[in-house]
Amino acid sequence: MINISKKTDILSLMPKELEVFVTEELGEPKYRAKQIFSFLCKGVAFSEMSSLSKGLRQKIEEKCEDRMPIIEKKLVSAIDGTVKYLFRLIDGNCIETVVMKYNHGNTVCISSQVGCRMGCRFCASTIGGKVRDLEPSELIGQVIMAQKDMGERISNIVMMGIGEPLDNFDNVVKFLALVGCESGLNIGYRHISLSTCGIVDKIYKLAELDLPITLSISLHAPDDETRSQIMPINNKWGVKELLCACRDYYAKTKRRLSFEYTLISGKNDSQKNAENLASVLNGELRSRGDTMPIHVNLIPVNEVKESGFVRSGDAQIKAFAAHLEKRGIRATIRRKLGPDINASCGQLRRESVENNTER
Ligand code: SAH
Repeated sequence: MINISKKTDILSLMPKELEVFVTEELGEPKYRAKQIFSFLCKGVAFSEMSSLSKGLRQKIEEKCEDRMPIIEKKLVSAIDGTVKYLFRLIDGNCIETVVMKYNHGNTVCISSQVGCRMGCRFCASTIGGKVRDLEPSELIGQVIMAQKDMGERISNIVMMGIGEPLDNFDNVVKFLALVGCESGLNIGYRHISLSTCGIVDKIYKLAELDLPITLSISLHAPDDETRSQIMPINNKWGVKELLCACRDYYAKTKRRLSFEYTLISGKNDSQKNAENLASVLNGELRSRGDTMPIHVNLIPVNEVKESGFVRSGDAQIKAFAAHLEKRGIRATIRRKLGPDINASCGQLRRESVENNTER
């Protein structure tokens, strides 16, 4: 394990902060900050920042830590071109990042923490608990390194990888601003989705910031009894409290929310569950004459060996979607990308953690 120094995490600095660092700590003129920021956002190592003098490059190496993730493993789907990276971080921890190719551009799915402490029963990311939060540098670093390796622009980001983004609130909010900088990656808020298991106080806090990102809520069950069985967070904030926060979020931001619903055979996929889901969404989000658009993403559960959950059959999934549509709720069934490379997040890191402990 490498010791983490007290060096400056230069890639976590906003352009203005970088300017202060460059002038005050490095004793260099302001314009150098722009050059350095541009190099950093292209994934250029300190030692390879060619237009800087050797002396300055050395000074940066002495005073700064390089938190750029390193590719440990890369899998490419032969079926649809989805690319999955296992990235190694400065302290030896690993995270996963996935790039999906759509007609409208490349979308990267990034991790927000090393592990996760939310404990959702179907999810591979949470099995070993949370190890630590990712720094803004490690969040943007996933996008930078994926883009550099692909040699193609990444235009959209989804925060749906390992970890709970709202459990790493400040670093995530800083990252959202950093990645939007025009002189850097220039991926604006409107091209970013953030998915949460429902940390209600942080949803209110996010709404206050009024960022035009898309918020996705991992709902997975319409009633407290079922939801608490599969998502421990529900014991803290129940379905109604969560939907109340969603209503507030929409009222403040006017941004469409989407709901994720993982279909697990015999657990949450019956017609009765679909009826309850439609009733609770319409009742909590639209009953006051609101016209809030509601979109539910149905995801057949990815079978993780530890959970024992089984995916619902295709007919069951279609019937579930049809019922929601009948009640005025848009429902789409998520296409599985990268099925040959186990593209669902958490599984590759688990394999690497298990292999390391077995060694
Ligand atoms: N912590 C955040 C984001 C990470 S998970 C959240 O909970 O939203 C991204 C999405 O994948 C969530 O909707 C999550 O519930 C879902 N997910 C996790 N494991 C899954 C599995 N085995 N099968 C299907 N969906 C899963």
